[in-house]
Amino acid sequence: MNFTWEPLADGISRCRLPFLDVTIGLVWSSAGALLVDTGTTRTEASAVRADAEDLAGREISHVVLTHHHFDHVLGASTFDGAAVYCAPAVAATVTEKAGRLRADAVRYGANPREVDDAIAALRPPQHPTTSEVIDLGERVIILGHPGRGHTDHDLIAVVEGAERTVVFCGDLVEESNDPSIDAESDTTAWPATLDQLLSAGGADAVYVPGHGASVDARFVRRQQQWLAVH
Ligand SMILES: [Zn+2]
Repeated sequence: MNFTWEPLADGISRCRLPFLDVTIGLVWSSAGALLVDTGTTRTEASAVRADAEDLAGREISHVVLTHHHFDHVLGASTFDGAAVYCAPAVAATVTEKAGRLRADAVRYGANPREVDDAIAALRPPQHPTTSEVIDLGERVIILGHPGRGHTDHDLIAVVEGAERTVVFCGDLVEESNDPSIDAESDTTAWPATLDQLLSAGGADAVYVPGHGASVDARFVRRQQQWLAVH
């Protein structure tokens, strides 16, 4: 294994990438394997792919991109055989704003040549959507947009596990730092968006942030209170 993978439930795992502590989620069962977010470079994503396909025992068939920030999107260029699901805004960024992805990635410390390689191999995502049910047999992934927050288009992936529900939150929830707020964030709407996220997962779900350790519903409530005063 190239990375340490944290089992979340049967057929559901995730790893935290060394670069920027980005979460990569993995869900698999008899009909496929789905990755949530992809990291920044093809080198990084290739290492994720090798691990994920080893764990799942099958090729990655589906990729979900939670939002259009470079550290979640650029590695998608490695998964050329997978169906890519994302919000329409992510597809627009990939096809029309590669320069912005590059500038942001380099500003955060990514290798410029590796970023250029990833951008050159990026394809337009085939499945722009804000609501989708992906059936992998024993595991069903429900994609949804709970509202504006970190961006105006964040998607979450809710997976009912045999033991417990797992919610991949993208950057609507962060644990290793305060939530990332920039010009396109909506801090007014964000707390209500977290209400929707919590009702999608329930009180006993595991909530997996875009950056940081897995948390519970009480942590998400505390973050909601923090956002309400920022
Ligand atoms: Zn982000």
